[in-house]
Amino acid sequence: MKMDGKRVLVTGASRGIGEGIARHFHQRGAYVYGTATSKPDEDFGFVSEWFETDFSNRDSLSQFCTTLGEMKGFDVCVNNAGINIIKPLDQIECEDYSRIQKINLEAPYKIIRSLVPGMRTLGGGKIINVASIWSTISKTYRSLYSTTKAGLVGMTKAMAVEFAKDNILVNAISPGFTMTDLTKKSLSEEQMDELANTVPLGRFATVDEIAQVILFLASDYNSYLTGQNIVVDGGFTIV
Ligand code: NAP
Repeated sequence: MKMDGKRVLVTGASRGIGEGIARHFHQRGAYVYGTATSKPDEDFGFVSEWFETDFSNRDSLSQFCTTLGEMKGFDVCVNNAGINIIKPLDQIECEDYSRIQKINLEAPYKIIRSLVPGMRTLGGGKIINVASIWSTISKTYRSLYSTTKAGLVGMTKAMAVEFAKDNILVNAISPGFTMTDLTKKSLSEEQMDELANTVPLGRFATVDEIAQVILFLASDYNSYLTGQNIVVDGGFTIV
């Protein structure tokens, strides 16, 4: 899946799944633009140009979108940046609601709107939104996260329909439990084993396994798949 000469935007490329996505695109010859709230201290060189932008700040997001609109000509956009807030409903503050909406929903929406005119000029493009298994099923204390990730899947479908005539294919991917540095830091070995046992494949996904599906969706091999939510969860949601 060669990406030579493709201009790819990956939001949240500083760590975790986003860093893996940036690495896979870079290794296949793409020119990768990455975002983070601040450029990481340790930069592995997968990202050719960084944008420092905080999606929870409307001015920062607005400035970033203006820049994207002026740059024109992105072939691929991966809306990966996202946060999770796990709390019982009665403890959720207005600030929590507003913050997660801005980062998980408003940012992808506005970013896509800024990029589409350029993609039209190029004769098409690929947009991939990173949702979650909690967009299709849910769990206690996930009300905010499920609201935004299900919203992101709804947005994916609506935009896929609207931009189909422009040959812009829009899909979502819903990772299940994925092994990132954050996962390792936030869960004990015992907790990870317990969770892994609930997955039919018996383990967490690697970042590479998520990135490879995104790569396919963004590649020339994908010319007819649009408006879908591809669940990459080792079978977790089917049992
Ligand atoms: P992560 O390690 O926490 O990384 C999140 C990325 O988003 C970072 O690059 C971060 O940048 C950026 N970000 C956070 N807050 C931001 C803000 N206010 N403005 C702009 N960028 C911001 O996350 P991850 O686990 O790799 O998850 C990536 C995506 O996959 C998310 O959308 C998540 O919901 C989804 N997902 C993850 C899993 C999993 O098991 N890990 C499972 C399903 C879905 P900074 O470094 O600057 O903070």
